[in-house]
Amino acid sequence: MTYYFRENLLSGPILSPRRPTINEFFLSSYTMSIYVGCEMGCSYCDGWVYSPRPLNETIHVPLNLPQLLAEELTTVNRGDLIAITALSDPYQPAEQTYRITRQVLQVFADAEQPCLILTKGLGIVDDIPLLQHMNERSLAIVMTTLVTMDRQVAERLEAKSPATHLRLEMLAALKRAGIPVGVAMVPIIPYVNDTITATRALLRACAEIGVDFVIWDYLNIPDERHRMRINETLVRIVSYLPGYYRDIYGNEALPNTQYRAERDAELLTRWDSMNIEARAPHRLFANRLNPCNEAALLLKHMAFRDMAYGRMHMAAFHRQMADQVYGGNIQPALLERSPLYATLQQVLHLTN
Ligand code: SF4
Repeated sequence: MTYYFRENLLSGPILSPRRPTINEFFLSSYTMSIYVGCEMGCSYCDGWVYSPRPLNETIHVPLNLPQLLAEELTTVNRGDLIAITALSDPYQPAEQTYRITRQVLQVFADAEQPCLILTKGLGIVDDIPLLQHMNERSLAIVMTTLVTMDRQVAERLEAKSPATHLRLEMLAALKRAGIPVGVAMVPIIPYVNDTITATRALLRACAEIGVDFVIWDYLNIPDERHRMRINETLVRIVSYLPGYYRDIYGNEALPNTQYRAERDAELLTRWDSMNIEARAPHRLFANRLNPCNEAALLLKHMAFRDMAYGRMHMAAFHRQMADQVYGGNIQPALLERSPLYATLQQVLHLTN
């Protein structure tokens, strides 16, 4: 049973503080959520960690959030992208009744504010005309999370979310409407969906509908409560060996560096062989963001490839340049050392 609490917020902020480094997955400088709590309650969701009560038990509906957001947007640079990606789904069932997300998108549309929305909720297709309008005037990207093509595994991990094939149909409808779409294969769950067969099946499905990019990230287990929830889920999926998780996680929140490095290299090779982008391609955000943000993303995406292919020195260099440029500190003499320099020159309007 889920309870809805309608409330008027006394004040903001609605947005997170501006990020000190640009988010390479979601292209964002700011993050926000709309509802608090998520009725879908997927067992792997980070939202459980930050919720004192069960994540799917109570949903707070902030009735005046769009008005507060409109005021706050007057302080945001239109070259910074806002991502609605944090800890609850903007198109969970509550949206059918309250339409807070639709009002937020209207606020973004009026302000010509670039945004990215991560959702599993099929209701987003009702807002396609609004998203088209936003994408024509600024930028609107939609992403969904897909974890596995195996129906039985999906039912155990995310029983209350729309089925995988329905989420793919949702992306296909958005794509046909000209809206850029991406997939978050998040989380990669060791022993469950990190195999060649599992990732290949998911990539094929994405390729068939022309998804623009597919990112991945690893299962986060930041505390003991979440570890117990994950363990309970895993025993229902596979006859897994708890020792395997102890070996790769130890007492850390993320899999160890060796597991992630090996997996990143393997997955990127597979993505490249199937011509799937592992980060949002430049064509999606070219001339749509602040030039410093655009250049910082190119540098970060290059750093990711460097890292996956073992070019550690270049990875560190590209990351450092990304953060400097994002902060407005542009040093052409240093940027010249990057193979991206010709593109960076154009983006940042640098002269020879
Ligand atoms: S739909 Fe998204 S936000 Fe909601 S519980 Fe699942 S993973 Fe978390």
